[in-house]
Amino acid sequence: MIHLKNIEKVYRTSTVETLAINGISLDIAKGEFLSIMGPSGCGKSTLLNIIGLLDEPSKGSIRIGDQDITGFKDQRLAKFRNEKLGFIFQSYHLINDLQVLDNVELPLLYRNVSDKERRQLAAEALEKVGLSNRMKHFPTQLSGGQRQRVAIARAIVGRPEIILADEPTGNLDSAMGNEIMDILINLNKNDGTTIVMVTHDEHMAGKTHRLVRLFDGSQVQ
Ligand code: ADP
Ligand code: ADP
Repeated sequence: MIHLKNIEKVYRTSTVETLAINGISLDIAKGEFLSIMGPSGCGKSTLLNIIGLLDEPSKGSIRIGDQDITGFKDQRLAKFRNEKLGFIFQSYHLINDLQVLDNVELPLLYRNVSDKERRQLAAEALEKVGLSNRMKHFPTQLSGGQRQRVAIARAIVGRPEIILADEPTGNLDSAMGNEIMDILINLNKNDGTTIVMVTHDEHMAGKTHRLVRLFDGSQVQ
């Protein structure tokens, strides 16, 4: 499903050069739930952003499904990302002055979907994460776990084939973290969604199919 070949990423500023990813090749199967671990600064977020087409590698190729993404230009990349990928972040990234339902509808605004269908799909996504009773709330009126569930609803509303999650339980206590993990595990099991998750938590990583460990930009396991 996702094929990375000899990926390198160098960050250059006028004074320093950082080799953030140092030759990683990785094949992630359709329906796999993969976690990425490693010490701070080892390149986890960079790798996830490269897989998520948010950041361009300095070298190497990326194939997602049967599409070679290397060399896709901005507009095509944005469309591909919007249709195929869903993103979840540690700090939720919700828009605080939009109600929950409107937040969840956002990814559909770029698609050819009627207002009515958009509402319906967003309501269904919220039902999936158990938040049907919070559609008219604002994010600031919700707990951290509930906010992350809104973010998951937003990530899945467009029915992406792949979900990329950067420390999705990082700001949550273990009970809420486990709830979020259960939702992700169900999405993976029931809908066959491929999930790639960065985590610091061995316990959460242990619930996934496979663990990749990074050190200094290289894969060590
Ligand atoms: P899927 O998308 O379900 O993984 P594919 O038919 O796309 O199945 O790929 C089958 C195998 O071919 C992959 O496991 C991968 O190792 C290999 N492969 C083919 N082309 C590439 C490529 N450009 N980069 C990395 N691996 C590749
Ligand atoms: P992790 O997610 O594992 O903490 P990152 O992927 O964020 O690691 O960072 C990997 C390395 O790349 C670090 O050394 C970091 O300082 C460097 N880095 C990350 N982003 C940038 C950037 N925009 N400019 C320069 N260096 C960066």
